[in-house]
Amino acid sequence: MQAWVIGNWKQNPATSKDVNTLLDNLLVASEDRGADNPYCHLMVAPSCVHLAAVSARLQNASIQVSAQNISAHSATVGAYTGDCSAQQVADAGASWTLLGHSERRQYHHESNDSLLAKLKCAFAQGLGVVLCIGETQEEYDAKQTISVLDEQLAVVESLLQTDSVQTQALAERLIIAYEPVWAIGTGKVPTVSEVSATHQHIKQQIASFAPKSPEVTVLYGGSVNADNADSFAASAMIDGALVGGASLKADSFLAIADAFSRAKG
Ligand code: PEP
Repeated sequence: MQAWVIGNWKQNPATSKDVNTLLDNLLVASEDRGADNPYCHLMVAPSCVHLAAVSARLQNASIQVSAQNISAHSATVGAYTGDCSAQQVADAGASWTLLGHSERRQYHHESNDSLLAKLKCAFAQGLGVVLCIGETQEEYDAKQTISVLDEQLAVVESLLQTDSVQTQALAERLIIAYEPVWAIGTGKVPTVSEVSATHQHIKQQIASFAPKSPEVTVLYGGSVNADNADSFAASAMIDGALVGGASLKADSFLAIADAFSRAKG
């Protein structure tokens, strides 16, 4: 299985000029390293306002582009002020979208109902989905991680029950990103063996919903950086990383990708 290293740029960088500088650095550094890495797919998720420009600049590079979110209301058009539809982000050049990031669950109260609607819109448009799940510090301390993840993963079961998503296609179009909320942007990380056991559970849970589907890709996210990437990459259960802060510097982002390439190659 090829690894994935995905940069979640969140509400960064501040200006189009800064976006171009980051892209310049990314393109130069990835050329120096040998752009086509057979063992690790690269993807970046810029803010919606930069999606078209980033997609245009990465058109001939081997770096895919993802949206950070899509509208739950319609896959296409409609009177939904402030939303961007699956069709609009695809038209801007995205082939994937993140969904259910903990910051969206926290600040926008995203529920399984709205995520189910978004998943349907994404798949109807042919977008792949990186579905983010993870427990809070309190839930981790109370040893509720698995039950919280199961509740968040139930949206995939609902999708398979209500939509015509082919289970065979599921593994190609769905990536799960396990991101403990307490590890995001904090510098705190779970141990590799904790993450590996959790990923094994996630893979088994998805397999129980879709027994005929090939094994789902599960990424770890939360304070991954150039120094700790090798240790996560060494686990057979960790198929890549969703990276926030360290994706805003080309060198650290590509160093993480190199770690996964070496380990999975
Ligand atoms: C994220 O927000 O998806 C993330 C993993 O952030 P960071 O790498 O900064 O912890």
